[in-house]
Amino acid sequence: MENINKIINGKMYAGKLLKDIYPLSKEFQESFKRKPCLTVILVGDNPASKIYIKNKILAANNNGIESREILLTSDVSEEELIQQISILNKDDKIDGILVQLPLPKHISEKKIINTINPSKDVDGFHPTNFGKLFMGKPNFIPCTPLGCLYLLKNEIKDIKGKNAVVLGRSNIVGKPMASLLLSSDCSVTITHSKTNNIQEHTRKADILIVAVGVPEMIDETFVKPGAIVIDVGINRIESKTEYNASNKRKLVGDVKFERVLNTAKKITPVPGGVGPMTIACLMHNTVKAAYINKKHDFINVFEGIL
Ligand code: NAP
Repeated sequence: MENINKIINGKMYAGKLLKDIYPLSKEFQESFKRKPCLTVILVGDNPASKIYIKNKILAANNNGIESREILLTSDVSEEELIQQISILNKDDKIDGILVQLPLPKHISEKKIINTINPSKDVDGFHPTNFGKLFMGKPNFIPCTPLGCLYLLKNEIKDIKGKNAVVLGRSNIVGKPMASLLLSSDCSVTITHSKTNNIQEHTRKADILIVAVGVPEMIDETFVKPGAIVIDVGINRIESKTEYNASNKRKLVGDVKFERVLNTAKKITPVPGGVGPMTIACLMHNTVKAAYINKKHDFINVFEGIL
């Protein structure tokens, strides 16, 4: 297979998903005389978080969703943030609440996530939504793993019975990803920083999901020939070229793309792979929250996926 045909085009799939979601946000606006509304809270001025928030707001504006932004300084207290979320929880014109992580060290992420009303928890991180996902009856599914599943099920028609290995066990990516794969009838192994001989596991994977946050950690020696590799990592690293001695920052994943491309059957690039899917799934979850908050049925645009 030509290497170019091995690259999974996340931008294209995100566009396809958004095309299904847009009519639903339009229909909501016609029925309820307002747009679905997403409120994002950013605490502090982490440059990466600022870029993520900007992209999420841009996507909302382009997809018939109203966006509101609450910017708080990094010295805001935990109590003030909790109070702010409680106000949003009670506002019936706000459908989705997203608190951009990470938060400053003096604020407990757990407490903040627990404060968000589960029916407005478009990130799917609240224990109620997390529990439902693991019970196989999901409501809001974390956006990144949901996006990965969408890519996988569009690329491989039947993932039933496949050996799936998830590298990373965070609540945001690794654990919910493993749960979704399990619900899709894969045999799932989760590996992490304490796993002995990670390669022993990854080399058996038909599906390898990498979410470690270590730039280009995975090369071809970790990958079974013919595997599908989903690279969730987003890392900003310094890049010096022979033409440009000044330090420029570039984005890389957790996978050494060029080297794994030869071994894998399919692979997601960074950028342009999982990232656009995360945003598209956030738009999906927001429109879904809007319908749920109006006690209205929501069409399953993940038919055949979930
Ligand atoms: P995280 O919370 O830091 O979790 C990283 C996981 O990787 C942990 O389970 C850790 O193990 C494991 N790990 C770290 N170093 C390892 C090593 N050398 N060998 C084996 N396992 C190792 O990160 P995250 O939030 O899951 O994010 C992972 C990556 O995905 C990051 O690059 C992040 O920027 C990216 N991300 C991308 C998107 C997107 O939209 N594309 C969304 C979210 C995150 P322990 O549990 O043992 O510490």
